[in-house]
Amino acid sequence: MKQTGKYDFQFSGLKLGNHQLNWPVAPDFFDNFEGTGVTEAKLKLDLEVEKKERLMTLNFHIVGEVKVHCDRCNDPLWLDVNSSEELVARFSNETDLSDDKILFLDASEYKLDLTQFIYEFTILDLPLKRVHEEGQCNPEVVSMLSEPEEEEKQTDPRWEALKNIQKE
Ligand SMILES: [Zn+2]
Repeated sequence: MKQTGKYDFQFSGLKLGNHQLNWPVAPDFFDNFEGTGVTEAKLKLDLEVEKKERLMTLNFHIVGEVKVHCDRCNDPLWLDVNSSEELVARFSNETDLSDDKILFLDASEYKLDLTQFIYEFTILDLPLKRVHEEGQCNPEVVSMLSEPEEEEKQTDPRWEALKNIQKE
């Protein structure tokens, strides 16, 4: 299911100069993307736009939190999001693919779907390791996880028996 139009930024009617726009991000926004691990979002996008004759500077500020599962105990974990990214869009029919920070908008385009940027900038802001702070994990799961390690430290009786055989 693709949401269309919800995060469209219509720039064609916008006057030259600075503008402040914002979008609430739907709680289920990340359901449309696979493999993010995000089950719920509480995010807001603030977009600062500086529109000039030939280009537009877009400053994305995505603030709030997202819910994932902890890598250690698998309980729900809310992660803070505070992302600031700049994107420059040029009104031009020629494209320079060597610079991925510049977006080219040709004369036929009048709006920009921000969905992909909200997705990318939020995911980029998340830590690689998604774990609760020390001591905040589900204690039951943590104690189950630490048990096998202690067993390994104990001497394996089969190994003991083998050592005895070698001595004989
Ligand atoms: Zn945890």
